[in-house]
Amino acid sequence: MELLSFSVILLLASTNTAVGAQGTNQSPTVTEANQNLDNRTELAKAARIINVGDGIYCANGYSLSNMIMIEGTTGILIIDTLESSEWATFVYKEFRKITSKPLMGIVVTHFHSDHFQGNIPLLEDAKNNGWSVNVYAHSSTARLVAENEFTQPIRTLRSARQFGGILSEQENANGSVNIDYKPSSKLVLEPLKVTHTYDERATFTVAGITFDLIHTPGETEDQTTVWIPSKRAVFPGDNIYQAFPNLYTIRGAPYRNVKHWYESLDITRNLGADYM
Ligand SMILES: [Zn+2]
Repeated sequence: MELLSFSVILLLASTNTAVGAQGTNQSPTVTEANQNLDNRTELAKAARIINVGDGIYCANGYSLSNMIMIEGTTGILIIDTLESSEWATFVYKEFRKITSKPLMGIVVTHFHSDHFQGNIPLLEDAKNNGWSVNVYAHSSTARLVAENEFTQPIRTLRSARQFGGILSEQENANGSVNIDYKPSSKLVLEPLKVTHTYDERATFTVAGITFDLIHTPGETEDQTTVWIPSKRAVFPGDNIYQAFPNLYTIRGAPYRNVKHWYESLDITRNLGADYM
């Protein structure tokens, strides 16, 4: 997830400029947070499971991204599994208070690590229970994960700078997610194993849930939108945040194609969903 809003980017950019002008030996100036940032913090203040209705549950605020559970007639489908085994396990236990139906499918919306690193504990739990789990993603996603490995060291450093990981609590207004968010202490990057891929659009059924996977390049070129027609529910991955689209990351990730992104938003909007 790219939760830094445009105002945060401006805030960080202006802070860096001020530090540079004063010399690097001085402590950075603490700037009062923009009101929009305070509003964003208020919106995502507490981690919670949101019961969207019709068997859809969204775990929001626990981690960098959302983890979503769809309860079908014979099992459950999970969309994205957060950034770490630690957080995925925690949220999965919360989901298990709602239903004990077998895990039958995981959709990974794109290659960013905060959307699939939690696959491992869920798949291990399924294996221990004798459940077979389909893992769905766009045909390019696993390749992009592998390619990402090459630049991992420099991206980790730059991400720490981008997300304010080295700032004190006082200086870090909301960790870009919410005031209580703390990065996982057990972050281990695991490769992504996918069992079902698609190219442009495909329909799958698992656990009694029929859903479409739609290729919607935007925040990343492999972005998948999940559409469940029977529930009128759409899951746009990171193509839509509660913030200005992160068209270019200050950590130096590849340029995001704006034309692709807005065309994908049109595709998403034209589905006519009641829930997102
Ligand atoms: Zn993302």
